[in-house]
Amino acid sequence: MNRRFNSYNSYFTKLFGARVQKISIDAGFSCPNRDGKLSTGGCTFCSNAAFNPSYCKPEKSVRQQIEEGIEFHQKRYRRASQYLAYFQAYSNTYKPLDELEQIYQQALDMPSIAGIVIGTRPDCIDEPLLHYLNEIQKNHYVMLEYGVESVYDVTLKRVNRGHDFATAKRAIQLTAEYGIPCGGHFIFGLPGETKAMMLDAADVISQLPLTTVKFHQLQIFKGTKMAEEYLQHPDAFHLFDLEEYIDFVIDFAERLNPNIVIERFAGEVPPRYLVSEPWMNLRYDEVLHRIEKRMEERDTWQGKRYKKQLECT
Ligand code: SF4
Repeated sequence: MNRRFNSYNSYFTKLFGARVQKISIDAGFSCPNRDGKLSTGGCTFCSNAAFNPSYCKPEKSVRQQIEEGIEFHQKRYRRASQYLAYFQAYSNTYKPLDELEQIYQQALDMPSIAGIVIGTRPDCIDEPLLHYLNEIQKNHYVMLEYGVESVYDVTLKRVNRGHDFATAKRAIQLTAEYGIPCGGHFIFGLPGETKAMMLDAADVISQLPLTTVKFHQLQIFKGTKMAEEYLQHPDAFHLFDLEEYIDFVIDFAERLNPNIVIERFAGEVPPRYLVSEPWMNLRYDEVLHRIEKRMEERDTWQGKRYKKQLECT
């Protein structure tokens, strides 16, 4: 299908010749920003509970979570014929390498699993791990997905991220040097960032050797440090409403390198987890449909302004 952005579905369709579905797994990892290695508070926005599908429970084996995940997706979507095990909850490289190998291998041993996607922090990787991942990608698809969140150190500090942007940049570059596909996750609307700052980030992200990106509008989750801040000082936050966000992400995509695959333009979590207002309970498919419709109305596309940006710099 001819789309106005470099879509995740077409990336995988080109790679596998068919639609693939990610199956989320909670393999019982922790995170150095929670267990005391860096801090105990975590990132101020973090609520893993809001992102974990109900079948993901660390008490269940990786195999059981994958079987239940496939069953869930087959009932709901029926379109995928191949699956990727998505190690999603917390920092999924935050264990010694021999333990990581055992965990990932449980997924790789399953015939229905075409590969693994590993979500982690950019300060939780090293060269022995990348070497191992490079080896397993001879037989399976492998992707590392980093939480970058912002390109601005002042923001990363404010949300207690525990690493700076240079760390994320290094991790992405090193991953690319090992020939491993690499994803980046970013949040739009973090406190202290103006729209101009967020749009300028497109030029920075465009220069990174990223395969995919995921964008989320800031949503404030119950029980987080950010929820406390928001309830005390709601005026310190600019939360996008849907219409404003649609135009914003299109402006952003116009400046984004067209070679980078966009996996998501926006986040979707059950409203019961939110302190901030949900977007009319819209599912992501509907939000995406509206973004694409607006792209058509504006006769624009991902990368439309990317070359101009490069010529100017
Ligand atoms: S967002 Fe990720 S890195 Fe931050 S506290 Fe949560 S699990 Fe840790």
